[in-house]
Amino acid sequence: MRCPFCGAEDTKVVDSRLYGDGDQVRRRRRCIVCSERFTTYEKPELELPRVIKRDGSRVPFDGRKLRSGLMRAVEKRPVSADEVEAVIARISRRLQATGASEVQSRDVGEFLMDELRGLDQVAYVRFASVYRKFEDVEAFREEIERLERQPSPEVKRAQLDLLSALESK
Ligand SMILES: [Zn+2]
Repeated sequence: MRCPFCGAEDTKVVDSRLYGDGDQVRRRRRCIVCSERFTTYEKPELELPRVIKRDGSRVPFDGRKLRSGLMRAVEKRPVSADEVEAVIARISRRLQATGASEVQSRDVGEFLMDELRGLDQVAYVRFASVYRKFEDVEAFREEIERLERQPSPEVKRAQLDLLSALESK
């Protein structure tokens, strides 16, 4: 790193320690040429792709927007704040994992629907009915019927609890 005092290209790290919540590193550096000391802070940069909206405009990914959409979908449903945060974290990781610099807003919507499907079926249908703009009433009814044939996450959990209760006897 270049010395801010004399512009020399070589500086030496004389001390490194964790800073903040441990998610940053504070380094003391000394210039090899002029011996001045200075401090740098290092933190990971989480690069999230930009979102391409339906009208073609690009906006930065906004976790708060995602959270408010999610909160609307899970309103009055047995979904905890922790579960909501975990969904947002998983979607952010998935977006990072694409490695893309831009993603379509509908891809973010699909990621969210994947999450909701496993979390709470009422929330899923609420979100999907608005988001996917079901072509017609028939398509919407088919989706509901498909969901009704699948055990809900609550039923699945109850089945698992029952299974583990039986097995522990
Ligand atoms: Zn220097």
